[in-house]
Order: sequence, then structure tokens, then C-alpha cells
Amino acid sequence: MTVLRGREIDRIRRLQGGGFEIDYHEVSDPTAFSRVSSDTVVMNLGGLQHVGEIDELCRGLRLSPPAASVKTYVSDDVLSLTTPRLVDEFARDFSKNGTRGTNRITVVGGSHSAFTVVDRLAMELDGVGLDEIAVIHRSPIRLFFETIEEARANGYEVDEANDVCPVTKRVNRAGGLRYRAFDIARSIMANGHVPGAKPRVELIEADSSEAARARARECLSQSVAVIHGAGYGPNMSVLVDHCGTPIPLQLGQGGLVSDRFGCPFDADGELVQGLFSFGLGSGFCPDEQIRRETGFEPAFRGRIYGVWAFHHDFGGRVLNGVLDALATVAFAREPAIALDDERGVIPDASERTACDQPNLEVSPQS
Ligand SMILES: Cc1cc2nc3c(=O)[nH]c(=O)nc-3n(C[C@H](O)[C@H](O)[C@H](O)COP(=O)(O)OP(=O)(O)OC[C@H]3O[C@@H](n4cnc5c(N)ncnc54)[C@H](O)[C@@H]3O)c2cc1C
Repeated sequence: MTVLRGREIDRIRRLQGGGFEIDYHEVSDPTAFSRVSSDTVVMNLGGLQHVGEIDELCRGLRLSPPAASVKTYVSDDVLSLTTPRLVDEFARDFSKNGTRGTNRITVVGGSHSAFTVVDRLAMELDGVGLDEIAVIHRSPIRLFFETIEEARANGYEVDEANDVCPVTKRVNRAGGLRYRAFDIARSIMANGHVPGAKPRVELIEADSSEAARARARECLSQSVAVIHGAGYGPNMSVLVDHCGTPIPLQLGQGGLVSDRFGCPFDADGELVQGLFSFGLGSGFCPDEQIRRETGFEPAFRGRIYGVWAFHHDFGGRVLNGVLDALATVAFAREPAIALDDERGVIPDASERTACDQPNLEVSPQS
């Protein structure tokens, strides 16, 4: 296996007869361009967020988007700033607003990105004028627990039919907050504060009642800034067709619309043969097979984003998809590259041994 490190991909061009050309340059020398051809591509370039999506998120919750005068950010921006730059970004606005009312920042989203941002804002803007953070979310905040008993001992209400993974018996295994985000959310649910920080944090489930929606409207309109913390879309910035025109792919809730091997559909509903994507922003919806063999709670309707799942169930599926594509699509290539077993052919999917199938074992780490 050849690993090319320190390279940045400029373009992945899908060829007319199948296969791809990947153009890249060396990070240390942007003038050093190279090209590699490939029959299949697994394109996991991470996720992207856009501030423009804030308006769409608000409209989805039947809320007016923030006024043009309100500063807008994506969670990645806020998490990437150094502390001095974060303070610098907001302190002046807080001091201008000082005598007029509450210095509030509104975060849209209710999962890991949102609570990670809330943690950072509350801890680092505490002393410079931040009074309040409003978190506007679409569905109830879900917490992860190893067992139903542990959840109940923590005062967390469990709907056994919908919140519990039938395989592992974990509560909110796919959609529950874990680690630091869990601690932050639990503290806010209990007393309205990030542990050790003064700013009040208000959770507003906008769809839960008209009163909640009205409060969400009020917070949005009276915020110094609004932050998009509602997840990521896929980074498909480099994918083009043989003419160099970007290939638009279908997007569904929380990621790309793909088949069960992670091969995405284009905007015309055709599979982009030979292309696969399953990382941040693309993800996998737990389908019937995943639910049967690996579990996850029935209430979970989003995409699974997690290193464990990528390395196990989904990586295995995509590998099988790649092998199928190599075996079935008529790419122009050197025969020696295609032959990888002693019979000189790649086995058909139906002939593969259990070792070739995705590893669907449930690990205690998941
Ligand atoms: C704030 C945050 C916290 C998270 N915490 C967890 C956690 O605790 N546990 C967990 O399991 N998951 C966590 N996740 C999800 C986690 O990001 C994913 O599980 C995992 O990192 C996704 O891997 P990926 O390869 O899809 O994307 P990434 O990890 O984002 O990797 C994408 C890579 O592609 C590179 N790239 C992009 N464009 C180009 C280009 N043009 N040329 C070359 N390279 C390029 C990027 O530099 C990057 O190295 C978290 C996500 C976020 C946003």
C-alpha cells in the first residue's frame, strides 16, 4: 500500500467511461502537481458547515432567521479560535450592548457540536460580559447511558421501546450525548449552568409548544450572535465530472443519500458508480440490516458519525462495495492490478467468505 502524505487534493474527476483521476499537489510545494488514476474512490474529506444554513435551520423550526445585523458563525469557527481571539471577537459587542440588556448568544442545535460550543462560550466568555446562552433545538436532548438502570438512577426518563438498543441494551446508543457533552448537558438540564460558569443556559425545544417557539423567536431576535451547531454536510468540494463541472449529489437528513455500501446518488437519482463516502457529513443511516445485527435505538433517525462505527460496520460495508465495483464495473485497467486471488479473479460477493464480509460484531467500545 502506498500512502501519500502531505498532499492536498485539488480535483477528483469522474471519467466518462468509469474510473477517476485525482489531481493533487504537495502541501510543502503548491506548484508540485501530480495525478493518479483509480477505478474506485472512497472520498472521506470530512464535513462542512455554512453560516448560510442558519436561515434554513430557523425556517425548518418555523422561526424567523436572525436579522442581518446579528453576527453569525458555524460551530467549527468558534471551536477553532484561540481564547484571546474568541474574547476579542465578542467582548466589544458585549460592552456596546452593556446597558441595553442581556448579552445573549444563541446556539442552534442539540447534539455534540452544540454542547461543545456552549461549554467553550460559557467557560471563556464568562468574565467578559456574556450573560446568557440560548440553545434552540428540534428534538429532546438525549443522553447516553450504559444501562436502563443507570439512566433511571440518574433521574433520566427512558422509553424502553424507543430509546434502548435491542442488541446492547444501551440507552440512546446512537443519538445520546457522551463524555464532556454529556456532563455539560446534564448540568444545564439540572441547574441551567455549565459547571463552574456563571452565564445562564436556557434549553428551548422549539417544536414542543407555541410558548417555546415564541421564546425561541425572542432569543434569536435579541442575540449578539447566532451559532450554527447543528452538524455537518459532506465536503464534496473537489468532485467534478469529465468536463470539470461539479457533480451535485443528493442530500438527505444529515448527510449524503447513498446505497447500503456508501455509494452516493447524484442529483438525477443515478448511483455514482465507483465512488464511496461514509465519513463526517456523509454517514450512514442505520438501515434494517444494521438495526437487526448491530442495533441502535429505534428512535434514532439521523446518521451515525463515530470512529468506532466507521472502523467496523461501515468500513466493512464500503470495502465490500469497493470490491463489488472492482469486480463488476468494466473499467479500463491493467489486468495485473485487478487480479488479487489465486484464481486470478476477484470473488463474486456471493462467493466471499465470512472474513470478507463486514465485521458486524458488537464491540463494547461502540
Ligand atoms: C467537534 C467534534 C467532536 C467529535 N468527537 C467525536 C468523538 O469523540 N468520537 C467519535 O467517534 N467521533 C467524534 N466526532 C466525529 C468525528 O469527526 C468523526 O467520527 C471522524 O473524525 C470523521 O472522520 P472523517 O475521516 O470522515 O473526517 P475528518 O476526521 O474530518 O477527516 C477528514 C480529513 O480530510 C482532509 N481533507 C479535506 N479536504 C482535503 C483535500 N482537498 N485534500 C486532502 N485532504 C483533505 C482533512 O484535512 C482531514 O484530515 C466529532 C466531530 C466533531 C465535529
